[in-house]
Order: sequence, then C-alpha cells, then structure tokens
Amino acid sequence: MLEVAGLSVAYGGLRALTDVSLVVKEGQFVTVVGPNGAGKSTLFKTISGIVPPTGGQISFMGQNLSRLSAARRAHLGIAHVPEGRQVFKTLTVRENLEMGAYQKAGRKAWHHTLDRIHALFPILSERATQFAGTLSGGEQQMVAIGRGLASVPRLLMLDEPSMGLAPTVADTIFERVSQIHREDGVTILLVEQRVAEALELSDHGYVLETGRMVLDGNYETLLRDDRVRRSYLGVADG
Ligand code: ATP
Repeated sequence: MLEVAGLSVAYGGLRALTDVSLVVKEGQFVTVVGPNGAGKSTLFKTISGIVPPTGGQISFMGQNLSRLSAARRAHLGIAHVPEGRQVFKTLTVRENLEMGAYQKAGRKAWHHTLDRIHALFPILSERATQFAGTLSGGEQQMVAIGRGLASVPRLLMLDEPSMGLAPTVADTIFERVSQIHREDGVTILLVEQRVAEALELSDHGYVLETGRMVLDGNYETLLRDDRVRRSYLGVADG
C-alpha cells in the first residue's frame, strides 16, 4: 500500500533522513520507533507532503506521490495526525472534527463517521460544543484522531499519540487505535516512544536512529534484539 524507497530529507545543510525505506501493506499495523531527533516526524511529514524530499521515492496504492500536494495525498486516503495534537483551540470539538471531513469522501460519510467517532470516544459527544482548547490532553488527542478519521482514511499515520499523557489515558488511546485497526480495517502507521505497548500491537516494527533505518522485523524479532531490549524496552542484558 505504502512504499518508501531510499528516502532522503535535509533541512538546509542538515540531513534528517538518509536512504530510508519502509513498506506498509494494506491492513497492517506498522510502528516506527527511535530516540528523539531520529527523524520520525520528518518521515511522516514527507509522506504526507509537508516536507519535500531531497531523494528517493514514495508511492501509495501504486501511485507515485512525488508530484502530489499534501491535499491530493489526503484525497487519496492518507491521514496524518501530527505530533502535539495541534487541534484548533478556538474552534469547538464538533468544528474540529468537521475540519477533517472537508474532502468529498469525508463529507459523504460524515454522519456515519461522526457516529463512529462518538462510539470510540463518547466524551467527544458530551463535549461537542466546547472549545477544543479547554479539553484535557487526552481529550485533545481524541479530537486529533477523530479529525483524522473524519477524512475516511485508508492509511492513518499517528505521530506519538501518547505523548504527555498519563499512562492510563495513553492505554485508552492505544486501545482505540487498535480498535480502529481491527474493526474499521484502517491501515495504521504509528510513531511511538512507548515502544513495548506499540510493538505489541504491531505486525511489523522499524527502528530509526539518526535518520537511518537500522533494524526492522516483527514483534518477536525486535524483542529478541539486544539493542532494542536495552535502548527501548529498558531490559538489562542476561
Ligand atoms: P522527536 O521524537 O523529538 O519529535 P523525531 O524523531 O520526530 O524526534 P524530527 O522531528 O523528525 O525527529 O527531527 C529530525 C532532525 O531534523 C532533528 O535533528 C531536528 O532538529 C531536525 N529538524 C526537524 N524539523 C526541522 C526544521 N523544520 N528545520 C530544521 N531542522 C529540523
């Protein structure tokens, strides 16, 4: 479904990604982990068309994305829920969700999608007329995910949805993401710092360090890797 091949990105003279390749098959749940500054957000921004690459290729559903704007990519079914949530604070919860449904597919399915968003996140129905800026961090993350769903995506890219949330709230978010994957059949590409929880949900995981993919594999493979155990799972050797 999504194929990233030999992707490189630079900000001015600074290389953020070097020769990065990744494959997400339809229906999969794929996670990218790595330390701060590794380039995870840059990878997502390049896939969604916000940041231009200096080399390499990205294709989605067999179509080369290189000449397509971010809006066209959204139209093809790529939804990007950015790091730090970035809800429109002075719009209501409902208006924020509507913003996600501005394209044709989203508008057509709007009533059905809104019911689904409320079934996943009942609190958003209660808070529909409240300004999004007054919500808790967890609720804002729910709005951000809901806004992504409102576009009726084929691929939902989530950039650190658990960031800054209490563990129990993060657990709820993970459960909902898993539900969206299982029940709605949406393909998921996730960036996460909570590595153990994220890999447990995943069909495949990638490790990105200083702009390069250094390892990938399924849950069992990554769990067996000493570097992953030490650096990301806090497991001592032996
Ligand atoms: P984090 O988890 O801390 O968000 P990350 O893995 O998502 O990290 P990126 O945000 O993609 O990493 O950053 C990768 C590198 O690119 C870092 O060295 C960062 O300082 C740099 N960078 C990111 N955005 C810009 C920008 N707009 N201009 C210049 N440099 C940038």
